[in-house]
Amino acid sequence: MIKEEKKLAEQVIRGNRLAIARAMTLIENEKKDYTYLLDIIHSKIGRAYRLGITGPPGVGKSTLTNKIAKILRQQELLVGIVAVDPTSPFTGGALLGDRIRMGDLTLDKGVYIRSMATRGKSGGLARKATEVADVLDAAGYDFIIYETVGVGQIELDIADAADSTIVMFVPEGGDIIQGLKSGLMEIGDIFIVNKADRPGADRMEKDLDYVLHLREATRIWNPKVLKTIAYKGHGVSEVWQEIQTHKNYMIKEHVLEKKREMRLRIRIKTLIQENLDAQFWNKERETLLKNYLKNKKKILSPYKLANQMMYELKGCV
Ligand code: GDP
Repeated sequence: MIKEEKKLAEQVIRGNRLAIARAMTLIENEKKDYTYLLDIIHSKIGRAYRLGITGPPGVGKSTLTNKIAKILRQQELLVGIVAVDPTSPFTGGALLGDRIRMGDLTLDKGVYIRSMATRGKSGGLARKATEVADVLDAAGYDFIIYETVGVGQIELDIADAADSTIVMFVPEGGDIIQGLKSGLMEIGDIFIVNKADRPGADRMEKDLDYVLHLREATRIWNPKVLKTIAYKGHGVSEVWQEIQTHKNYMIKEHVLEKKREMRLRIRIKTLIQENLDAQFWNKERETLLKNYLKNKKKILSPYKLANQMMYELKGCV
């Protein structure tokens, strides 16, 4: 098995598309030994720049992703697109819907598109999206775009996984308040009001600007608000410029380095936490907890019980 993983990893590093697809499926299904694959490719990771694009369904994420991918392709850069949709039950490969949405990009061998969905566990999805992006990074893709449907926690998790994050809105009101609530305003490095061909775009731009300026004092980077008409390509080159500006700022001020270090730190801590948790909850402890909950008297407080379970397993209920 491990020999197979090694061969697969080598093929991934050489950029073999079939191997990339197989590696991604291993990660998504958490197949045995898949972490071994990640171990082998690890030394090849860190070259790709990762951009997150998030916003509600229909805001224009795929349209913008498509346009940005085209700019990158003109520069002969390899582009990876990881489309994360926590609301969809479908997963794996590039779905038919994405093929249509991404149009001619799917025919381009310099673009790799992968769709990911979940059945409820958003934390796990963000990690898998990172690992899928790692595969693309190791395979030599220069620029990876995480396109995430903004529906709550997932976009915040993905923002942690991205180097720069774009948050998209449409001119119609109401979104800003929602954005404030779900922490969207904190994660954006660039804000976009798309569908600027519709009424209310200027107002939306002003409102966003106002809200962002309220926070300015505590920020080093001041996010800009840009208007686009993505399907016509209007404003897209300005967005591209701003991505470059943010990237340069991140490099110059060593923010990118720190952000990536922090990301690794969190990843390691989460893995250890998960491992410890799995180790801790052996049969004996599960039974103790079950018996405790069944026992009407519940003499021990939860603190005492937890303490005893950790340090003196026997007879603690
Ligand atoms: P996503 O769900 O956020 O990925 O949104 P899509 O990119 O699939 O776009 C949803 C719809 O909005 C599509 O029919 C697009 O053609 C359309 N669309 C994208 N950009 C614009 C725009 O700037 N103006 C208008 N009016 N429609 C747009």
